[in-house]
Amino acid sequence: VKESGRGACRFFDETMNSDALDHLQLRNGLRRALDRGGFVLHYQPQIDLTSGAVSGVEALLRWRADDGALIPPARFIPVAEESGLIVPIGDWVLREACRQAMLWQQAGLPPLMMAVNLSAVQFRRGDLLQTVIIALTESGLPASCLELELTESLLIADNENVLAVLRALKQLGVKLSIDDFGTGYSSLAYLKRFAVDQLKIDRSFVRDLRSDPEDAAIVRAIAQMGRSLGLRTLAEGVEDSVTASLLCTCQCDAAQGYYFARPLPPEEFVSFFRARQES
Ligand code: C2E
Ligand code: CA
Ligand code: CA
Ligand code: CA
Repeated sequence: VKESGRGACRFFDETMNSDALDHLQLRNGLRRALDRGGFVLHYQPQIDLTSGAVSGVEALLRWRADDGALIPPARFIPVAEESGLIVPIGDWVLREACRQAMLWQQAGLPPLMMAVNLSAVQFRRGDLLQTVIIALTESGLPASCLELELTESLLIADNENVLAVLRALKQLGVKLSIDDFGTGYSSLAYLKRFAVDQLKIDRSFVRDLRSDPEDAAIVRAIAQMGRSLGLRTLAEGVEDSVTASLLCTCQCDAAQGYYFARPLPPEEFVSFFRARQES
């Protein structure tokens, strides 16, 4: 018993060590990527369900590894947040997304909404307001074309600083969207306190919409509440046409998902946009 106990313990130690090593390697890799332009943004189209037109895009971060492979955010965002590196990485994302949105306008595309994901750490440890002002000024993008995606947990934290920064951002004319809506805590008081513009209905309610009457009831309820409060609703994770038309019946305003398009590199987004315009 003692033997196996020690064996189990040693096994556990080794796992811990390799985790710590991964963590350190990841952190160094992220820092190198920041210095050497190792991050890229892909853009997933957002579709207005009434007109069928592309109304905006969501910028989604990828890390280009040394071998050229693209590493998805789930693999590195936690370490970036823990180490604080999400602050300079998030600064880069904001500036790059605004720059790209302006490039598209200059290339003749109509003004589209550019949605950018924010981490709570950027509120706690960075000067987010300053970064947004710089990104808008540098690019020349109108504030009304920038939408920041926030999580419910950030708004529920009830932090004076968060409140002040969000008020200032609204004053600038930036839009605010609640990401993964419906998965956080059940208090909806923050919808009154913050001047939110959009609710992004979480994929977990959309995935089985076709077969699950409870999911359908939830989506309809969120869309109705959004309407009464003057908020846009966007459903994420739409993978098929049946779900897309159900969302129309539920009176969702917009949708996003693989059914319309995957997150695309900037050039591919332009082709997608033009092809959709012609059809
Ligand atoms: P999210 O903000 O909820 O983004 C949606 C995720 O769902 C994206 O994964 C997207 O590629 C994926 N997705 C889109 N349509 C579909 C669909 O129809 N089906 C399925 N199964 N998935 C779909 P991605 O790009 O891997 O991003 C994962 C998460 O990483 C994001 O979740 C977001 O929380 C975070 N993230 C991405 N970019 C950034 C960033 O620049 N900053 C911060 N702080 N977080 C980011
Ligand atoms: Ca998002
Ligand atoms: Ca989401
Ligand atoms: Ca999600």
